[in-house]
Amino acid sequence: MIKFPGFRGYRCACYPVEPARPSPRNAGFRGCRYARDTVMFLSFTDTDAVLRNRVKSWEDESVDNRELWASLGMDLGKHDEFLAPLPGAYTNLFLERSRRPRAMSYFDAVVGDIHGIRVKELVAAKENGHKVFATFCVYVPEEIIVAAGSACIGLCAGAQYTVPAAEKVLPRNLCPLIKSAMGFKLERICPYFQVADWVIGETTCDGKKKAWEILNDYVPTYVMELPQKKRVQDNAFWEEEVREFAAFVEKETEVKLTKDNLAEGIAKINRKRAALKRLAALRQASPAPIHGLDVLVINQLAFFDDPERFASRVELLCTELEERVAQNEGVAPPEAPRILITGTPQPIPFWKIHALIEQAGGVVVGEETCTGERYYRDLTEPASNKDGMLVNIARRPLNVNCACFTPNAGRVKDILSLADNLRVDGVIDFTLQFCQPYGVESHTVAKELEKREIPHLRLESDFSEEDQGQLKTRIEAFLEMLK
Ligand code: SF4
Ligand code: SF4
Repeated sequence: MIKFPGFRGYRCACYPVEPARPSPRNAGFRGCRYARDTVMFLSFTDTDAVLRNRVKSWEDESVDNRELWASLGMDLGKHDEFLAPLPGAYTNLFLERSRRPRAMSYFDAVVGDIHGIRVKELVAAKENGHKVFATFCVYVPEEIIVAAGSACIGLCAGAQYTVPAAEKVLPRNLCPLIKSAMGFKLERICPYFQVADWVIGETTCDGKKKAWEILNDYVPTYVMELPQKKRVQDNAFWEEEVREFAAFVEKETEVKLTKDNLAEGIAKINRKRAALKRLAALRQASPAPIHGLDVLVINQLAFFDDPERFASRVELLCTELEERVAQNEGVAPPEAPRILITGTPQPIPFWKIHALIEQAGGVVVGEETCTGERYYRDLTEPASNKDGMLVNIARRPLNVNCACFTPNAGRVKDILSLADNLRVDGVIDFTLQFCQPYGVESHTVAKELEKREIPHLRLESDFSEEDQGQLKTRIEAFLEMLK
């Protein structure tokens, strides 16, 4: 969580005269005029029952998530402390920006009730016999989980607050993403972690691989083994791994995977990815029709929300943005430097890099990351039988060029093609501290960008606020150079 001008700690910045303490009772924006605008927007435009209930829950003072959180064994004191700055920070970073698309209201509402309604949906699903699987990597095949009628939730891993707790069991010089994720469980402040029946880990990097062994002491953790190369035999190995995972899901959920439910699972996740692709394509326009920070939060929420509801909301946003593009309207002047971000994922609630770039006058138009292009670029091909579907589910992510693979020339090609399609002025290669795969690969990325004379800047950081001044200076100097 980061502090920006106007940030008032426990106090919501939108009520400077009559301060409304953001209510940890519901961890939302109750009492905030922006939230009330959002509620009004939703009540005028939404027809689905879930959103009507969301509005109702905000209006109904008797609704109290604390009972829900207590029933999940959460540490309520720490949870209050963790969530208290969120309304102020979100208001300053997102809600106070001008020219935001109206359809962002839905995503604002999801963040505003981040530990409420979706958690209730998951608890209700569990009461009806469904399971919740929590994940940390885009390689985990969510189509299979959804096909079995279960929920797939990408867990939070982008907060500094949870890092000190994790450092009691993990080395300090480890990637903050792994430490943050572990800390959420140790501190018992993430309701998604608490509601999860299983965590699905993977052997992508050594830090994660070993951390799963420790995490398994706190929550059942299933680990998928990911090959490190992409030869024919590696692909065959991964297909087998996916089949084994499918059998595990069948056993845990007591739901038989069939041609029909797998086709449904593929269709739901394909629709979500297609909507995100459509959104990404709209960012080719100049002036940019949407802030990169808004797209980042949407990409982050893609891992949490109900896939069909989420896809329908992204589609609505795209329709609005298409009108903007047709009218040549944007959120930044056409001359604002257009930036592509590449590197490590930026899990919720990590917004620091996008925020600093856009506050300095740039506009982020693309992300070659797993909280971006790598998640949605490819869809799963249809197939006529169950085995063919499992094969296609396994093949799709093998196009994801994660730095955990060697060699990984595909990633450079992806960066260059995005830089070209999005007409970027510069590339920022962002690596989380102590991430060896992306940190080492930065050298190759820089070399290839230099060959093509594409301006680039390498940044390394963690989830803390400590280096904000330094990052700001470097980003401002880079953007100045691009003008
Ligand atoms: S960067 Fe690699 S390990 Fe991390 S989510 Fe993406 S594919 Fe998985
Ligand atoms: S950011 Fe790097 S070190 Fe951290 S989990 Fe991903 S691949 Fe591993």
